[in-house]
Amino acid sequence: MDVRLGGETGGRCEQLSSLALRCAERLRVPFRDFYRELIIPILYEGRTVPKGRGLPMNSTVDGMLESAELWVRAMNTVMARSDLRRATLLPWRDTFAPRALAKRFRAWCPQCLHDFLTDGAIVYEPLAWRVAEVAVCPHHRVLLEFECPFCGRGRQPSFGAYTRVGCCRRCGKWLGRDVAPQVSMSDEDQEMFCARSVEEILALSDVEHEVNPIASDIAVRAIRDVFYDGSSAQMARALGVLPSQIVHFAAGTFPAPLHLFVRASYTTGATMEQMFLTNDFDGESPVKKEYEYEIRRSVPQRVQMSRDLVERLGEALEGDGSKSIQHIADSLHITATTVWRRERELATRLARQHAAYAVKERQRQKDQYRSNVVAFLIACRDQGVSPGRRRIDEECGGAGRFASDWKRSVIRQARAEVFGLFPDAWDDTDEAGLGQVS
Ligand SMILES: [Zn+2]
Ligand SMILES: [Zn+2]
Repeated sequence: MDVRLGGETGGRCEQLSSLALRCAERLRVPFRDFYRELIIPILYEGRTVPKGRGLPMNSTVDGMLESAELWVRAMNTVMARSDLRRATLLPWRDTFAPRALAKRFRAWCPQCLHDFLTDGAIVYEPLAWRVAEVAVCPHHRVLLEFECPFCGRGRQPSFGAYTRVGCCRRCGKWLGRDVAPQVSMSDEDQEMFCARSVEEILALSDVEHEVNPIASDIAVRAIRDVFYDGSSAQMARALGVLPSQIVHFAAGTFPAPLHLFVRASYTTGATMEQMFLTNDFDGESPVKKEYEYEIRRSVPQRVQMSRDLVERLGEALEGDGSKSIQHIADSLHITATTVWRRERELATRLARQHAAYAVKERQRQKDQYRSNVVAFLIACRDQGVSPGRRRIDEECGGAGRFASDWKRSVIRQARAEVFGLFPDAWDDTDEAGLGQVS
């Protein structure tokens, strides 16, 4: 498909979800149809598509987890390319801790969108906006926006049925506009430095060939040894983390978060290329800057649980309704009451969806029971036997389920159908059956 990837080279690469939206626009179809016709067959290759599978509402399409892998494969196929990993954070999988690396919801710079449009350039949404640590646009010195100025709605997913690139996912309005830069924002601001660093990082992976950035533990050890005399404690103090965390990052117990490297770059002057591609710090006499970083511990368990809960509820809502609140609670080892207390709105929606599913499922099971009974009786008739009610019930999967009166009448009717006898001729209390039927 003849759609160019936005911002190739220079760290301003397009995010994969934005590219997908533009492909749908090029084909002049709603995004929903593009997803159904072209993406789903590849995502679910050889597997049955779960019923009621809606549009993917999560943001990890541009991240570094499994759904990013699947989407890269799908989009590479659709576009006959092989390099679309660069439009996600996948190249950085061994380098940065995946947790909270990508924003779950959209953020955008209204001025960038406005400029793309007025310059006649490709209008797209850069991958950098998807990185959780990025809060400002370094090109325009404005805060990224995440709520639509027209309808006021935030928490915007990557996709909607009729979504267009650069537009609100809720009201559909164009989000680009002229905004005044925030003069208070200086180049030395941590937020500005961080946003520029992320673009510097993305420029390294925004290449046609496969890149292999240096793995997290190796990068951390190099920084510690070159700039902090091999001391985890010194490095921890300078970068505002706990010494034990540096020990673990250096040992490779878990990958270090992106912000650790950004802070390291700020205080040591090492470039992203040095940290992640060359590890060559020779000849550097970095001016070490100091900055009072607030200590970031790992995400408190409570906060992580809330995130997981929202995620699970979201997934369940995209599904066929088979998951109940209890099911979600069990999967997180919490009580259903906690689910209700924490996420009342989502829980209410899921409860409704599950109730509708349960009614249908109950009916399906009843129909199944009825046809089991008929099939079983036909088999019995062919063998010349007539089983009793309890036996029929057990053979047909009714034991311990459904109301007895209902089952009794189903069995009576099925016997009449199969054996052609008047129902009253059967003794319902007869558990041994009626013996041989000629
Ligand atoms: Zn901008
Ligand atoms: Zn809106």
